[in-house]
Amino acid sequence: MIIAKRKPFEEIKEMLTPYNKVLTLGCGTCVAVCLAGGEKEVAVLNAELDMARKLDNNPIELGAFTVERQCDMEYLEVLDSMVGEYEALLSMACGAGVQFLAERYPEKPVFPAVDTTFIGVNRAVGWYEERCRSCSSCVLGMTGGICPVTMCAKGLFNGPCGGTNKGSCEIDKDQPCAWYLIYERLSLQGRLDSIKNISPAVEWQNQAPRTVIQPGYKKPDEAEAGN
Ligand code: SF4
Ligand code: SF4
Repeated sequence: MIIAKRKPFEEIKEMLTPYNKVLTLGCGTCVAVCLAGGEKEVAVLNAELDMARKLDNNPIELGAFTVERQCDMEYLEVLDSMVGEYEALLSMACGAGVQFLAERYPEKPVFPAVDTTFIGVNRAVGWYEERCRSCSSCVLGMTGGICPVTMCAKGLFNGPCGGTNKGSCEIDKDQPCAWYLIYERLSLQGRLDSIKNISPAVEWQNQAPRTVIQPGYKKPDEAEAGN
């Protein structure tokens, strides 16, 4: 899932300074699960903002609503009848959700209340670890299910480098060497030959916005045209 963390309170408060009526919008999916931007976090943030603005003698009227997913237009429709009442929107979704809100309501200033951080796993309640940088060229099949882009400090597709030292990465003795972990995992599976495959130089595909259309689906304009 996408992991995010709430922005520092002062940063959020500063963004909203010129506005007196703001709708805070949570997202019920990834950011709710990682305790950054779901219904509960919307309520907590609004309470803090309300108190802070009263103390500043600049009261603010805050609305609250949490949609199923802000990254899906279908779930934004419910907001159409609400947003007109507000001067600005404060989104607690990831960056994709914020952008979809801004696209649907271009006349409204939309502000992010969280920093989108990474694609990760839930290690324990409130503890998340990065596991993928969406490189568009997944090599997990060759690396025993360990991501060299995320876990190796140099993002090496062929490793280890000369800095590997008794299982640790050269950047920090407490940081495991990704390629040592890959060696151990492949060894356990009796697939050590896989580490000898030299991966060609990576064609990085995450430098421009990408689109995924699953097999059997079409772009909306193509579907409408009946192509
Ligand atoms: S190789 Fe790593 S960064 Fe690339 S898609 Fe696979 S898990 Fe994600
Ligand atoms: S020591 Fe291992 S994890 Fe660190 S940069 Fe080299 S190959 Fe990557």
